[in-house]
Amino acid sequence: MHRIKLSISLLLIALLSVNAQRPKKPNSSEILESIQKLNVLASVLYVAAHPDDENTRLISYMSNEVKARTAYLSLTRGDGGQNLIGSEIRELLGIMRTQELLAARGVDGGEQRFTRANDFGYSKHPDETLSIWNKDDVLADVVWSIRQFKPDIIINRFDHRRSGRTHGHHTSSAMLSLEAFDLVNDKTKYPSQLEYTQIWEPKRIFYNTSWWRYGSREAFDKIDKSNMASFDVGVYYPLKGLSNNEVASIASSQHLCQGFGRVTNRGSQEEYIEFLKGKALDGDNPFAGIDISWNRIEGGKAIEDILKPIEENFNFSNPSVHLSQLVKAYQMLQNVENEHWKTIKSKELIAIIEACAGLYLEVSASSPTATKNEAINLRIEALNRSETNIKLISYKMTSLEDTILKNIQLSANNRINLEEGITIPNNINYTSAYWLNKKGTLGMYSVEDQRLIGKPETPRAVNVTFNLNIENVLIPITKPVVYRYSKPDKGELYRPFEIVPPVSASLRDKVFIFENDQQKDIEVVIKAGKDNIEGFVQMAYPNDWSVYPEKQKIKIENKGDAQTLVFTFIPPKNQSEGLITPMVNLDGEFYTKELIEIDYNHIPFQTVYLPSESKLVRLNIQKRGNNIGYIEGAGDVVPESLQQIGYNVTIIKPENISADNLSEFDAIVIGIRAYNILDELKFKQKFLLEYVKDGGNMVVQYNTSRGIKVDNIAPFDLTLSRDRVTDENAEMRILQPNHPLLNFPNKITQKDFEGWVQERGLYFPNKWSNEYTSLFSANDKGESPKTGSLLIAKYGKGNYIYTGLSFFREFPAGVSGAYRLFANMLSAGKEKVPNKKLND
Ligand SMILES: [Zn+2]
Repeated sequence: MHRIKLSISLLLIALLSVNAQRPKKPNSSEILESIQKLNVLASVLYVAAHPDDENTRLISYMSNEVKARTAYLSLTRGDGGQNLIGSEIRELLGIMRTQELLAARGVDGGEQRFTRANDFGYSKHPDETLSIWNKDDVLADVVWSIRQFKPDIIINRFDHRRSGRTHGHHTSSAMLSLEAFDLVNDKTKYPSQLEYTQIWEPKRIFYNTSWWRYGSREAFDKIDKSNMASFDVGVYYPLKGLSNNEVASIASSQHLCQGFGRVTNRGSQEEYIEFLKGKALDGDNPFAGIDISWNRIEGGKAIEDILKPIEENFNFSNPSVHLSQLVKAYQMLQNVENEHWKTIKSKELIAIIEACAGLYLEVSASSPTATKNEAINLRIEALNRSETNIKLISYKMTSLEDTILKNIQLSANNRINLEEGITIPNNINYTSAYWLNKKGTLGMYSVEDQRLIGKPETPRAVNVTFNLNIENVLIPITKPVVYRYSKPDKGELYRPFEIVPPVSASLRDKVFIFENDQQKDIEVVIKAGKDNIEGFVQMAYPNDWSVYPEKQKIKIENKGDAQTLVFTFIPPKNQSEGLITPMVNLDGEFYTKELIEIDYNHIPFQTVYLPSESKLVRLNIQKRGNNIGYIEGAGDVVPESLQQIGYNVTIIKPENISADNLSEFDAIVIGIRAYNILDELKFKQKFLLEYVKDGGNMVVQYNTSRGIKVDNIAPFDLTLSRDRVTDENAEMRILQPNHPLLNFPNKITQKDFEGWVQERGLYFPNKWSNEYTSLFSANDKGESPKTGSLLIAKYGKGNYIYTGLSFFREFPAGVSGAYRLFANMLSAGKEKVPNKKLND
């Protein structure tokens, strides 16, 4: 066994982009499809704003029917969305949605690209979007993607002429794409990009229109379509046994965290693209006037003469008979001068050669993770499952100075197992999402290395290139190092091999609320990334707080094991907030990050290395009442947040709502969108309203205006609308400063609306009867005042409160004012109840 010192060159890491998952082993139908695609030299770039915006029918049609290289440029990674299958939000959700997009492209055959734009949440207008994003940087990234991908045609998902009619991110994506179309061929624009790529001239840009853009199918039937191209995206693929729209449905069903699992369509279906700019359109062929055969490159014709016959006379039962011609084509391709197509087609051709030979090449590490300077073993498997003459000449680890000579004949179906010991180099990067390595802004990720911009994920750091002699031609095949293991209930599994820090530290929650001046214990979990770590942990914390002990020792024997420490925090007397970070000292070096694992079945295992940081909030808060009944809606952490400030919260299942069960609670809170999703409430609403009438206090959080399951959401007339205030800093004008809800038990002032995140609120009522009192007025820039964000009505002896304010977003962010206002809502009508100290 050799002991090899690796020294990873960062340049090489940036150039290699391989996805570590279960290896794909194409069958003969898939090989033929790849050969058909190999013989088409066309490219399409599809542009939109979010994961799930993309029309997978059209992407699949371009990729599988036209056989063009097709990429989806999603400007954002969808951090601002909601997660229906787990607790990841914000940047972690962005990582999941990135992987779901890659899974979708794995189905429809497309590629995936991004910009540095961050999905900061709902935006009403592109003017707002482009001021929160750095417009010039996002435009530069769109230009960069076009220059790198070099599409013949660009297709926008959204209409650049619809400002204010859809999400501002959507319109912005179309506007930027159209603007970039004019810039990409100008070498004075973003000249620094030209160090790594060249200018490019796409031939045409289109908008992927549809009948719904015109209101109805009838209206769309009547419009002039002379500037549109259309295709039947319902074509059937016998090689797949699937229709194009079936492929598309499977692809879009990968967006599971957004609940996109959907039923499949089949049969003829027309798709339209409207010509916007470029070389005039002539008929239905968007590629008209562009040679999309091998003829488009010098020296291509001779390659086509070799490859076309293989496509036409493909041998399904023994594809290896084509190897001698395929390697000949590969050899000729190496002499082509067009670097762009040479790189793309060489990669495609190598994959076809590998598949035709039934080659199995795999490198699996002895452990799923390793840290810098750690010695690990690699198990290498090489197997030729054809009669073709193949020799393993050598292999080269990603960045190894020397190539390791082997000269092993790979005889038919004779597995070769080899082992290599390597030491992970010191200058390697930890495995993590490259766009999260540096702190960005609300609207932008910060990425320094131009070569990483646009890539869907961080290129794997440890790869092995096998140099093979196949029919006397040297063919290099690169594989990422993986970790292969099995579980009794799941069979064989693969994980990417990852480089992790020697130690990481995490806190249980992102926000810790102190509702009075009593101390609280906070747990810190220390996880070892290597064997035998020994050191100490101390906390970074705000000046006016105290913590003990000052330092604690850690000692962990085995890599992967964890140790839990408890630090006690003492809050100051007055309202205060700040950040805490555990700092682990190992051999004089401090480690302040946490390692987060994202583990779902539909996407590859992900680890993310982010600053370990939580917010401490000392609230100045008064409360009345203690027992809160919570009816859960679409999922929020409001119950946990109320528990954090000392309430006793009971989750009430909808089927258990009854007059008896409700009477024991000081207040009932309805979770977000409960009236949209709980059918049961249709039969239970009467008990809830009776509870209020008898003196109870009910707080209803936002529901969407469409699809309410009950006839009467409130005791008096109340009409929900789509009114929302998306600017989290929008002025909150207090309409009834003397109203008890704003004075008891906490005095609510402008200060309580400082530091809110993402938005003020959504789906405010826009009409209500006289029984309600409206407490606030607010609006986004340029809009009329919206006064429905918080309404209270006396009903019988109790109080009914409806609020679209986004408490569900503010609580997890530790926003003091949101807690104080919520405590007032829960205390409504309890002015005469004595102040009971909950912690006594
Ligand atoms: Zn969208």
